[in-house]
Amino acid sequence: MASDFENLLTRRQKLLGTTYQLFYDDPVHIVRGEGVWLYDASGRKYLDMYNNVPHVGHCHPHVVDAICEQARTLNTHTRYLHENILDYAERLVDKFPAALDTAIFCCTGSEASELALRIARTATGGTGVIVTDFAYHGNSQACDDIDSEENRLDALPDHVATVPTPDCYRGEHRGEDAGERYAEYIRDALELLDSRGIKPAAFIVDTIMSSGGVMVPPPAYLSTAAAIVREAGALFIADEVQPGFGRMGKHFWGFEVDEFVPDIVTLGKPMGNGHPIAGVVVRRELLAGLAKSSGYFNTFGGNPVSCAAASAVLDVIEDEGLQQNALEVGQHLVDGLWKLAEKHECIGDVRGTGLFLGLELVSDRERRTPAIELTSMVVNDLRNRGVLTGTTGTHDNLVKLRSPMVLSRDDADYMLGILDESLGHVTL
Ligand code: PLP
Repeated sequence: MASDFENLLTRRQKLLGTTYQLFYDDPVHIVRGEGVWLYDASGRKYLDMYNNVPHVGHCHPHVVDAICEQARTLNTHTRYLHENILDYAERLVDKFPAALDTAIFCCTGSEASELALRIARTATGGTGVIVTDFAYHGNSQACDDIDSEENRLDALPDHVATVPTPDCYRGEHRGEDAGERYAEYIRDALELLDSRGIKPAAFIVDTIMSSGGVMVPPPAYLSTAAAIVREAGALFIADEVQPGFGRMGKHFWGFEVDEFVPDIVTLGKPMGNGHPIAGVVVRRELLAGLAKSSGYFNTFGGNPVSCAAASAVLDVIEDEGLQQNALEVGQHLVDGLWKLAEKHECIGDVRGTGLFLGLELVSDRERRTPAIELTSMVVNDLRNRGVLTGTTGTHDNLVKLRSPMVLSRDDADYMLGILDESLGHVTL
């Protein structure tokens, strides 16, 4: 007789089709979560080093209580007056430089990207979008159009132009001026759009460049890029769906690595700790065009329950000092990973910031040759040893370490111990 596990696999394939993907050669059936731990159906626990959505920890009681209490009282769309959306908008906008003074809410990061692009287009009159060359910004049609993962660069529509991800490990520019040099490629992208008769609307960038290989923007990259696109009449969109809400440790938002203010910021994933809330924060005057053309309505975005969840997330970040925790435990992890690099030749680079780290595995340190198969084997082996991670990067040879923000030093040490065993065990 088929086991429950096999039944789930068969039902899933039958009901959801083949477009849905599963992690790991031996998929996990998770039934419960608490803090940084996930539990499978047999009661086995796994350290969650992968999920950034349960930002303040899986099933944090303060967030769960806030959701339940509001759900018991009222949940409606946003066409009635309600305190929650305003209280949350006030707190959220307060986390940004003064120029970014207006918030709009939706349910997913894709919707936020889509909305940001619409705002940019109505505000500038342009349609062109510049994007880094291995970026993901969502699953809607407008987002899919700008999805620049390498294998489909040739298939991008005419209104999309790519620039190289500022990769200071393997890329063309690695010196002190790498930021400015990489930003200069935006001029080529603007020229390309111009040669196609397309006016630019925006440059959009994930400020930790997660898909591009966990690249903290090099000094002056973002500010130089913003100056160049603005000179051309376009806007700068900072995609904070991955790095936002204190994960970077040193700052609350990824864009704050540089001295400048984006025109539009998109938010999502960690915002509701798993409850679907996302949004855009923007300079008010940029909304005039959208307000005139169609206005904005979103049935679920910014409803009282979502805003209660998102507000509770901010409470926990502040009350439990999670940004500081990301800074300290993140640095502890980085130090531990570099220590492992003394022992394991396959560690080529450790990068990222706070609790958003990438461990690049290589087969030749000198040449920086991506160890693609080894990375997949390590991630599967870690899963078998009870630590959940994932892969990312242009070559898919980074182990992505992006745990809930409540990861402790002890948890980090536990993970480093298991990784040490795994790297010692897995060979091609
Ligand atoms: N932007 C970035 C940088 C992302 O990584 C993602 C999702 O992975 C999105 C936007 C889209 O978010 P969602 O999956 O909530 O639609």
